Amino acid sequence: MTDSGGIDGSASDGTGIDGSGTERARCVLAPNPSPMTLDGTNTWVISEPGSDAAVVVDPGPEGDGHLHRVVKSVEAAGKRVTTVLLTHGHDDHSGGARRFAELTGAPVRALDPAHRFGDEGLGEGDVVTAPGGLEIEVVGTPGHTDDSLTFLLPADGALLTGDTVLGRGTTVIDNLGNYLRSLDRLRDWSDRTAARRILPGHGPVLTDPVTAIDFYIDHRRERLTEIRAALAAGDRTIKEIVARVYADVDRKVWFAAEYSVRAQLAYLGEEGELPPDVRL
Ligand SMILES: [Zn+2]
Repeated sequence: MTDSGGIDGSASDGTGIDGSGTERARCVLAPNPSPMTLDGTNTWVISEPGSDAAVVVDPGPEGDGHLHRVVKSVEAAGKRVTTVLLTHGHDDHSGGARRFAELTGAPVRALDPAHRFGDEGLGEGDVVTAPGGLEIEVVGTPGHTDDSLTFLLPADGALLTGDTVLGRGTTVIDNLGNYLRSLDRLRDWSDRTAARRILPGHGPVLTDPVTAIDFYIDHRRERLTEIRAALAAGDRTIKEIVARVYADVDRKVWFAAEYSVRAQLAYLGEEGELPPDVRL
């Protein structure tokens, strides 16, 4: 999959998302709505009040219209882009990164070297700083993809989760064991710091991080229960399981559901729960 996002099937006009955020982070919504990207990709501009430096998270897909709009919004605030960070390498987040680096002269930092422009990498435990005292902490949160990162903005009690937690619906999983561990870590941080906002890669800002993450954890457990039941009922292929478990979900996103079911079957395999005649 080159596109990312959630199994939701609904798109809205993005009302309330563009321009939303926290004291230090503001969303510039990209014009790429779809069943998989919800309202479109959220590009986040982060800056310490009074500083002229801005960090941009996920420039978004290819297309100069959106990239120019991000640059103009930064310049209109009297700032300049000093660093670009990627939550992960999916095209709808990173496709415009090279062009954005050309427009701004700012380096692009990502976990996956293939998506970097410049010398600096990015990974678990890094603290990205910008003039004015801005600090962004980096947490490795594999699961949606191997290269998924979450960025913590402690000054605002906020988490920039990329596609690990979305503003609406649920996300596509590549590796469920990793994903559940990632959610546990984000929940721990949110609980410990009394976090106030999730700034997702798609969809609206969420105001209760612990509850949102618990919803994701519960949702995954419920889906696993449903998949165990489908196996017990005799389903042996991914398509059979999707048709049963995702019967109430728009068929347009069944291909994404197949991807998630495959990840869940792999997880059950790791746990020793998979019948030997299941075809992955
Ligand atoms: Zn993605």
